[in-house]
Amino acid sequence: MHSTTLPSDDAATFDVRLTDTPRSDAEREAALAAPRFGTVFTDHMARVTWTAEGGWTDRRVERYGPLQLDPATAVLHYAQEIFEGMKAYRHADGSVWTFRPEANAARFAASARRLALPELAEADFLGAIEALVRTDEAWVPSAPDTSLYLRPFMYASETFLGVRPSAEAEFITIASPVGPYFAQGVHPVSIWVSRDFNRAGPGGTGAAKCGGNYAASLLPQQEAFARGCEQVAFLDAATGTTLEELGGMNIFVVHADGSVSTPVLTGSILEGITRSSILQLLADRGVAVTEQAITLGELRAGLEDGTVREVFACGTAAVITPIGRLASDDFDLTVADGTAGELTMSVRDELTDIQYGRRPDTHGWLRRLV
Ligand SMILES: *Cc1c(COP(=O)(O)O)cnc(C)c1O
Repeated sequence: MHSTTLPSDDAATFDVRLTDTPRSDAEREAALAAPRFGTVFTDHMARVTWTAEGGWTDRRVERYGPLQLDPATAVLHYAQEIFEGMKAYRHADGSVWTFRPEANAARFAASARRLALPELAEADFLGAIEALVRTDEAWVPSAPDTSLYLRPFMYASETFLGVRPSAEAEFITIASPVGPYFAQGVHPVSIWVSRDFNRAGPGGTGAAKCGGNYAASLLPQQEAFARGCEQVAFLDAATGTTLEELGGMNIFVVHADGSVSTPVLTGSILEGITRSSILQLLADRGVAVTEQAITLGELRAGLEDGTVREVFACGTAAVITPIGRLASDDFDLTVADGTAGELTMSVRDELTDIQYGRRPDTHGWLRRLV
């Protein structure tokens, strides 16, 4: 369906230095047969090096392997690091595509600005992905619901302990074949609404995709587990009353009148590309969809009186995940009958159909890699 779109040549500036020790076909096929999220990596990584003096240089694809870091490397002390998460999808005709990578490139640049890291040009961001996926194309799985997860990241690589932005940085993209995020198939998850912890605050780094935000979300996530829930949801730090998002996914609420809402971006919410795609797909269907403040009080009342019909979370890794239960110290509520909602699953199908080339890409969201 998209075969007339030719791959671009942003990868041309990357020097491909093939490993002498690639995994054998048998090893790769064994890894592809049962990929567990983020555990197996391809033979190569794409890399670009930055210095304050020389700018971005040495665009290359090289052997995947350990990094050697001086113990005084800045990132190890002050967490000056950002990342992205995206996927390469194999279509039925064998071609390989990624989804809205320009949006990831723009968000990566915005995250870099917030973390005082150097901005990477879109052409280098896209070029790294193209060069890596073309080199390791055999690692893009083709079974249903599988993909090659791509993890571009950048860290402060200067060796020094002073507190100032690093004068050196490394941009690296690694790739990992992944199966469906939930091995048992899509199932509604339970959410613990954290009262004790916040993910982000006004003026903080909540809108940047940085490792530090994830470090801060791990203890609340453990609290959620301890309370018998699978994921944690955060409220706004300033008032503790409005819903923001999960540790790594945005959230949507479906109302009985057919309308849909999602928390408005306040500066402490990460602007998900899945979120913005869902807003567009719902608008295309003529659904009344709003970005607005959603208070925990309203959500609880809606779950109690049935005016909230579905709640779901979304992000690249798990796509769309139904939420079946929300709990905290003072409430424990089932969303409708606790099963996956109809709209939730139909938007999920529509989005994944576009990503895998099973439905027309009317918004031009797909970019061909191979
Ligand atoms: C990455 C991320 C998301 C989801 O973003 P997508 O672009 O949809 O993958 C949501 N919240 C947080 C905190 C994230 O880091």
